[in-house]
Amino acid sequence: MLDTHKHKGMRKALVEEVRSKGITNEAILKVIGSIPRHFFLDSSFDRFAYQDVAFPIGSGQTISQPYTVAFQTELLEIRKGIKVLEVGTGSGYQACVLVELGAKVYSIERQKKLYEKTSKFVESLGYRMNLFYGDGYKGLPTYGPFDRIIITAGAPEIPKELLLQLKVGGWMIIPVGGDGHQVMTKVFRKSEFDFEQKTYGNFAFVPMLKNRATD
Ligand code: SAH
Repeated sequence: MLDTHKHKGMRKALVEEVRSKGITNEAILKVIGSIPRHFFLDSSFDRFAYQDVAFPIGSGQTISQPYTVAFQTELLEIRKGIKVLEVGTGSGYQACVLVELGAKVYSIERQKKLYEKTSKFVESLGYRMNLFYGDGYKGLPTYGPFDRIIITAGAPEIPKELLLQLKVGGWMIIPVGGDGHQVMTKVFRKSEFDFEQKTYGNFAFVPMLKNRATD
């Protein structure tokens, strides 16, 4: 895998595009500028890696649009050492962004083939994170509670079991809705039993599906 001058140039342009769409967090922009996104796609799709679009990664899934990755990451307000649960590992790109920002990442993927491929791949890049094959609706109760939870698939409703895996004072960023139309939502855990919701506009994700896939 090569990261050429041409790739670097395209990546710089992508950063400016994401910035022009309203992302202001310099640490996040820097990380998007440093991770070779084309490594996360099959090599024949190099030129698509630096367009601000979602792209198929196999098993019927997609790598999220860079702007969407930046937007969700901005809402997470990552600080060094905080514990993050991601639902929907996919290509591993979002997880790598979080690791680069200093988060301790736990990520679940329901597609076994994708889980296996991505586990090998992120390890080959030298990223340290904890990847799991399982059902994101159930979360990882034995590894929680988490400071943050990020869902990278469209959720028909907010999974209750995941809310209980948030620390008090922590929050979840989740696109809520069906059929390719979701509203980005932040669910803040105010206390043991109180949660507060805020919304942040419309997005389109592949669906969050129940149970593991049967391969
Ligand atoms: N974060 C990814 C984007 C993944 S697209 C990236 O950066 O590339 C959404 C992913 O969520 C898909 O890989 C899909 O298989 C997965 N997914 C859908 N429902 C799930 C569930 N219930 N549990 C875990 N993963 C799920």
